[in-house]
Amino acid sequence: MEQLSFDDFEISKEIKKAVQEIGFEEPTPIQALALPEALAGHDIIGQAQTGTGKTAAFGIPVLEKIFIGDKSPQAIIICPTRELSLQVAEELGRLSSFMSKLHILPVYGGQPIGRQIRVLNKGAHIIIGTPGRLIDHIERGTLDLSGIEIVVLDEADEMLDMGFRDDIEKILRETPTKRQTLLFSATIPKTIERLAKKYQKNPKKLRVAQNIITAPEIEQIYYEAREHLKLELFTRLMDIYDLNLVLVFCNTKRRVDYLVRDLKSRGYDADGIHGDMRQSQRDKVMNKFRQGKVEILVATDVAARGIDVPDVEAVFNYDVPNDNEYYVHRIGRTGRAGKTGYAFTFVAGKEIYKLRDIQKYIKSKIKQNKIPTVKEMKTIKSGLILDRVKKVIEKNNLDKDINAVETLIESGYNSIDVAAALLKMLKEE
Ligand code: ADP
Ligand code: MG
Repeated sequence: MEQLSFDDFEISKEIKKAVQEIGFEEPTPIQALALPEALAGHDIIGQAQTGTGKTAAFGIPVLEKIFIGDKSPQAIIICPTRELSLQVAEELGRLSSFMSKLHILPVYGGQPIGRQIRVLNKGAHIIIGTPGRLIDHIERGTLDLSGIEIVVLDEADEMLDMGFRDDIEKILRETPTKRQTLLFSATIPKTIERLAKKYQKNPKKLRVAQNIITAPEIEQIYYEAREHLKLELFTRLMDIYDLNLVLVFCNTKRRVDYLVRDLKSRGYDADGIHGDMRQSQRDKVMNKFRQGKVEILVATDVAARGIDVPDVEAVFNYDVPNDNEYYVHRIGRTGRAGKTGYAFTFVAGKEIYKLRDIQKYIKSKIKQNKIPTVKEMKTIKSGLILDRVKKVIEKNNLDKDINAVETLIESGYNSIDVAAALLKMLKEE
């Protein structure tokens, strides 16, 4: 398929301008598939993994559908969690930054309902929210869905996993049948197919194959480490790679709790999220992580689904995931927006077979490194710093900095000494 550009779609100049300003150069594969169909008014089932740009794939068609002159709700976007509702609201806010008088309202539990009702009374074009709170508003009569033109189900599989099926159906039944319905999901189990059959009209099935894994921005490395060595290995890697924001995956809720406890006792800012925690607790942890107040977030696969935190420097597979697709989902959380990310996988004993399977699935090799000894750590660190130096020289405009160094040279130091001193300072950082 030839590479499309956003100019190839029938979208308003306001949105094109916003897309340009945000810095999206070209549509992602799911956007390239979904935009023409959704803009033409078709129902769609879009399947693509996390981090592939699904929000804009439905967000742009939603924005195009809005008639600003009418202030009643015309679009409703249903998301599994408050965190995701806010992320979607933010992205839509950016995409609509040149559309004036557009009102987007996220509604979710935990926020005072009175305030939401007041905003709803003033009028909102697009409502984004979790199923529970949406139902709450419908039952109170504070949310009128009779003017809805388009409904989006985001992360539909997760919503069903969380037991929102009845709520979703109830919401859909409150909207006019002539509506357009866009469904997005990382996986399409039978339950999703049944839901689609019941509530969509000839949906176009769009699927993006899982090949982004070749993304060069993610450096994938594995270590053979038995359970009792994992914690030590983890702390060495944090040190060597100088990491400040990382996501660690464990296979079970209990392992998340234990690891958080162990990390805290070693003085790290660590916190965990998993499915046994209340939504409000999870939100609290996520917010701290997002703001960098927690440097290590330990999670299970399900709890971390769909979460997009842009500056994650590394993902650790503390356990090899049980499902090949999980591996892809997990490591896709780093290396965002053109930055380099690391994906470290700890392999204990027989897990090596699972790892072989993963490599076959992603059609690429994962490099093996030996657990660095304390002595080796220093050498590796210097090597990494020198790599960074090379990259800066190749990329940046250094004029000002060169001037500063020159003043040192003029006062009698030689450039090698200056460079060595800077390297020493960096290592001691
Ligand atoms: P998903 O919902 O599929 O997990 P998101 O919609 O959250 O993915 O997008 C992931 C990240 O990619 C976001 O930071 C988003 O701003 C960015 N993004 C989306 N579309 C593009 C694009 N066309 N080019 C570059 N970055 C994009
Ligand atoms: Mg999403």
